[in-house]
Amino acid sequence: MGLARFATLSDGTFYAPLNSFRQHEAVLCKAQQAMNRKMKFNSNWKKAKAKVQRIHSRIGNARRDYLHKTTTTISQNHAMVCIEDSQVRNMSKAAAGTTEAPGRNVRAESGLNKSIFDQGWFKFCHQLEYKLVWNGGWLVTVLPQYTSRTCPCCGHISAANRQRQAQFLCIECDFVENADVVGVINVLRVGHARFACEVSGAVMLPAAGIHRSGSGADQCRSQINGRRGETALGKSRLTCSSGSRCSA
Ligand SMILES: [Zn+2]
Repeated sequence: MGLARFATLSDGTFYAPLNSFRQHEAVLCKAQQAMNRKMKFNSNWKKAKAKVQRIHSRIGNARRDYLHKTTTTISQNHAMVCIEDSQVRNMSKAAAGTTEAPGRNVRAESGLNKSIFDQGWFKFCHQLEYKLVWNGGWLVTVLPQYTSRTCPCCGHISAANRQRQAQFLCIECDFVENADVVGVINVLRVGHARFACEVSGAVMLPAAGIHRSGSGADQCRSQINGRRGETALGKSRLTCSSGSRCSA
């Protein structure tokens, strides 16, 4: 998940972000100013207030509609989704900071947070999770270690592979790809490895349908998915090994 591309899939497709609040920000501001000019509680003020509320609900409706459409599509087309277990929560916490340790770049980071909340990343992860369980799929979260630096072609790990924000260029084998796509390819690879460990009993299953890696919570930035063929095998073997826990 990212700001420029809301969600990128490992096959290279991506969903453009819908910044519902940003789109309506100017209109909303104007309506609120108009409301503030009215005498409070008289009928014109009430009309202006109703207008402001209509805009608010339109923003929310558009966002919810978009999130439900994307999560439904993804959960119906993929049996296993690997999602980067990353810094959404840390990012949004860090911006304001505490009184003892005020955050750095507060203005820039609060702008980023605004976009994260506007695009609804938390809701996206949550919806994806329960919709996959409905459809008998799996959500695997993986720690995003080196996922943006590893070359999917030759495996070379270097920060120099990512010299520009949007582009990945391997310094060993000159592999060039969109940086988001490289990230999700690596997340999928780590997710497969993790899923295989759980199937073979090397790692305990935390819960049916939801696989978390490490200590991370349901945070996400980048997300990708597996193909049905690969995961059907994993699923049937899981049912054997963990019995009643596989209710999905
Ligand atoms: Zn390479």
